Amino acid sequence: MESHQRATLVRRLLLKWFRSSGRSFYWRENRDPYVVLVSELLLKKTAAPVVDRFLPAFLKRFPDFASLSRARHATLVRILQPLGLSDQRAGQLRALAQAISGSKDGCVPATRQDLLALPGVGEYTANSLLCVSFGQAVPVVDTNVARIVMRAFGIGHSRCEARRSPEIWGLAADITGNVPTRAVEVNWALLDLGANVCTARTPRCRDCPVSSICRSSNT
Ligand code: SF4
Repeated sequence: MESHQRATLVRRLLLKWFRSSGRSFYWRENRDPYVVLVSELLLKKTAAPVVDRFLPAFLKRFPDFASLSRARHATLVRILQPLGLSDQRAGQLRALAQAISGSKDGCVPATRQDLLALPGVGEYTANSLLCVSFGQAVPVVDTNVARIVMRAFGIGHSRCEARRSPEIWGLAADITGNVPTRAVEVNWALLDLGANVCTARTPRCRDCPVSSICRSSNT
């Protein structure tokens, strides 16, 4: 099977699976750029269900970048304590909030170039914003998604280089497809699959929606 055909099949199978097994999170129900951007920063090195429980109270206290930019560092460190890395996260959130609040229109930019210029925003976060909040069909590749792509297509890469590999991003883009409304669901499905099924140490191929076409399936 050639890779474009495999990517198309992976997309179809993922979409079907996501509609019955996808996870629901605050930032998936509310796709406001502020909510999505803050969530992405909090999700770095913290499990999604933990951030999901934490987020509503945080957003009540800091409903926008203007309020976040005025927060004292020490206050943020205390509030972010339950998530860990609170000093680092407080610094990142304040820097980001001040950059956006101090910009000409005070809004989250809607282009990849401008997003990448923001403090703490890399390829993954920029594409997540573009896809979820701004309706663009772009891939969202983190370590888990890179692992799924490598396994499904039978590609070898070191763990570190995989999520930056143009080959992996290209295949992920092929899986994502070019229909924005579906691209969001495909990207979320990949994230959910990586978190719960195609895990790093013990992939549960028997429960995997793409096992019939995965080149690394153990079923
Ligand atoms: S079949 Fe197994 S290795 Fe392949 S994507 Fe699914 S869980 Fe991962």
